[in-house]
Amino acid sequence: MLDPSVHAALAAILPPSALLTEPEATKPYECDGLTLFREIPAAVLLPENEAQVVAILRRCHESNVPVVARGAGTSLSGGAMPDAAGVVLSLAKFNRILSIDRETRTAIVQPGVRNLAITEAAAPYGLYYAPDPSSQIACSIGGNVAENAGGVHCLKYGLTVHNIRRVRGVLINGEVVEFGGDAVDSPGFDLLALITGSEGLLAVITEITVKLLPKPQVAKVALAAFASVEHAGAAVGAIIGAGIIPAGLEMMDQQATRAAEAFVHADYPLDAAAVLLVEADGTADEVADEMEQIKRLLAKNGAIEIRVSNDEAQRALYWSGRKAAFPAVGRISPDYYCIDGTIPRAALPHVLTQIATWSTEYGLPCANVFHAGDGNLHPLILYDANKPGDKERTIAFGDQILALCIEVGGTITGEHGVGIEKLGGMCAQFAPAELERFRAIKAAFDPKGLLNPGKAVPTLRRCAEFGRLHVHHGNLRHPDLPRF
Ligand SMILES: Cc1cc2nc3c(=O)[nH]c(=O)nc-3n(C[C@H](O)[C@H](O)[C@H](O)COP(=O)(O)OP(=O)(O)OC[C@H]3O[C@@H](n4cnc5c(N)ncnc54)[C@H](O)[C@@H]3O)c2cc1C
Repeated sequence: MLDPSVHAALAAILPPSALLTEPEATKPYECDGLTLFREIPAAVLLPENEAQVVAILRRCHESNVPVVARGAGTSLSGGAMPDAAGVVLSLAKFNRILSIDRETRTAIVQPGVRNLAITEAAAPYGLYYAPDPSSQIACSIGGNVAENAGGVHCLKYGLTVHNIRRVRGVLINGEVVEFGGDAVDSPGFDLLALITGSEGLLAVITEITVKLLPKPQVAKVALAAFASVEHAGAAVGAIIGAGIIPAGLEMMDQQATRAAEAFVHADYPLDAAAVLLVEADGTADEVADEMEQIKRLLAKNGAIEIRVSNDEAQRALYWSGRKAAFPAVGRISPDYYCIDGTIPRAALPHVLTQIATWSTEYGLPCANVFHAGDGNLHPLILYDANKPGDKERTIAFGDQILALCIEVGGTITGEHGVGIEKLGGMCAQFAPAELERFRAIKAAFDPKGLLNPGKAVPTLRRCAEFGRLHVHHGNLRHPDLPRF
């Protein structure tokens, strides 16, 4: 519950409809897309302009009230999970596209704008916003910046951090700040990169300038079926090794393709052990040439069937199964837990075999969907939260997968962030000195630690509790040096 004096101060800033404290009004905010972890906040605040955000943060700072910023609540790492003693600051009403500039190919948008809405608004100018998380119909651009979100097209066009120019935000003490600028490069430290992926720990984002790209003239996707995951993995390596950077390079295993097919009827081959989707985009000549090379490499590496989309409708159909893979898996299991880790592509067969072994040992089915070109895995562990022990076994299974990602030279996140979920993984990935530096950066922005407390950067005490996970690998080339 909020202290009455804080409640009164917030009520003076916001209209009654924008200050929610009743349990039935605050309950919908108890978790994000990671439903394993829940907490009811003391209040939910729905400001509609920056002046209100400034006043709220000043007051919370003064009264030591924790603040968790929230976009659309689709995070899969518990980044937007509330603090029981604090407020959720929803940016849902910051939903306007302020301008689109054809000449500079940029748009200025508020943080609550949906990712896909930017591309829809830019379409009449022949432009689009490249990063396309599978959640793009729902997730907000503010959440994308805070998580440095990725997507199918990020292999060729970069992550969120490569597709934004300027971020405006408010610090916990109410100070308005800007990161980056209108120029292509800014002098000084790259604070734009620092705020990107900072998971609401450094500032509340109130405005973003995004880059827009010209829509490619032509795009085609090849759908290739394989009798084994190893062959599909080898084909991925061969395509990248040949110097081709496809516009998208995704893999789904049989569990995932079958679930997606039953849901959206994407015309996937159901007997294949793995399916690859490989997209080429550019001019008609470029696409024809690249697609020929891709088909040759797919066939050489054991594809048992290759189809190339004939038109936009078929391209959208082939992608529909991949884009709907998470909800499709949600249909066949009461609950699922999406893991997000990155591995070197060469380790793919070993890691997938190990996941299959653990899946049998834990008695928990696991479907695999991943951004294969980036080596970004998304094992989806199927469980039933109402079955005693299922939740604990699911978490243990997920921890083992992430520990394996580190062991083979990868990382504990590819795009979903750390949130509350992977604090143990952070202890495994980083040495205490590195975590101390992260904490020093946090303290420089938020000395009282009020913005999204307990997320993303674990305390050393927490790491001691997670001791069993500590397999720090340091700098891979120079193991005795920390990674900075
Ligand atoms: C079905 C499904 C598919 C997904 N596919 C992908 C994918 O392909 N790629 C990918 O990267 N992610 C994916 N995600 C995860 C998620 O959609 C992304 O992380 C997204 O960027 C979260 O945006 P959001 O608006 O929902 O943020 P939220 O969940 O509301 O918040 C996420 C984090 O950002 C912070 N935050 C939000 N807004 C602000 C702000 N204005 N200022 C400061 N901090 C803020 C929050 O505090 C929290 O830490 C998927 C999720 C689902 C459910």
